[in-house]
Amino acid sequence: MNKRISSPKTMQDVIHRHRFTLKKSLGQNFLIDENILNNIAAAAGIDQESYVLEIGPGAGALTQVLASQAKKVIAVEIDRRLEPVLRDTLQDFDNVAVHFGDVLKLDLHQIIAQECPPEASVTVVANLPYYVTTPILMKLLTEGLPIETIVVMIQKEVASRLQAEPGEKSYGSLSIAVQYIADPKIVMTVPKTVFVPQPNVDSAVIRLDVRANKKVKVQDEAFFYKLIRASFAQRRKTLMNNLMNNLFDKTKKEHLLQVLNHVGIDPNRRGETLTIEEFAHLSDALSRQ
Ligand code: SAM
Repeated sequence: MNKRISSPKTMQDVIHRHRFTLKKSLGQNFLIDENILNNIAAAAGIDQESYVLEIGPGAGALTQVLASQAKKVIAVEIDRRLEPVLRDTLQDFDNVAVHFGDVLKLDLHQIIAQECPPEASVTVVANLPYYVTTPILMKLLTEGLPIETIVVMIQKEVASRLQAEPGEKSYGSLSIAVQYIADPKIVMTVPKTVFVPQPNVDSAVIRLDVRANKKVKVQDEAFFYKLIRASFAQRRKTLMNNLMNNLFDKTKKEHLLQVLNHVGIDPNRRGETLTIEEFAHLSDALSRQ
């Protein structure tokens, strides 16, 4: 049985054996704590029937744990230099398929169709590269992929934003965009010491359960997203000012005031006080015009 690379010593051995140099620019902070690796897999509820998509397997520490519990692991890694490393660390598993490429550019529909049976639903599990956390999560959530659950290690501050409620400091456009599609829950916070090299920021594991139906109904999703982004463009500004500065031209001022009045939203409120339901009402009222 090939050795697990879940300790500082075994990870260092693999890195040295392959003369691999970690790239900060690719967010290569590898996990070296067995408990954390097991806890991530446990939070995702993986069993022998699970199809798992892992973004960024790195040297394969989490991949080994996932492959030992799941039916199949599909791993997507941008760094081709890791090919010999993964061939070594995953040699005992015949249920792992590694695809090399940028997850943001790859066609995940096609990869999932190629690797999984047609009716399979996929669980995403990853220790994400922090420089692209938000675009990766938005891609996973908005492309209509057969994903039910996402369990990812991310920057703690971003995890708080995903889970935040109206009125909380970290509530913003990302909270709404994510909660519209999924139900996020922070599973645990994680100290810097479980990574090599240690990142500058604290981390957290978050679980996102994709909703069977979106949290609110909106008529024009593209406009809903635009409205949310504009409403939070400058946090200290009122909703009215943000919408006039970032979404509408001067001629629409009276009209906007009328619509806000009609849906019962005070124009002097800040975006951070509005619930997702209020944004949905406003979006429908404005996009109807
Ligand atoms: N899963 C490993 C672990 O926990 O030890 C490594 C996690 S490390 C934080 C992030 C991994 O994502 C790195 O292996 C990095 O090369 C890879 N990565 C970075 N950007 C990526 C991208 N756009 N697409 C796919 N993989 C990416």
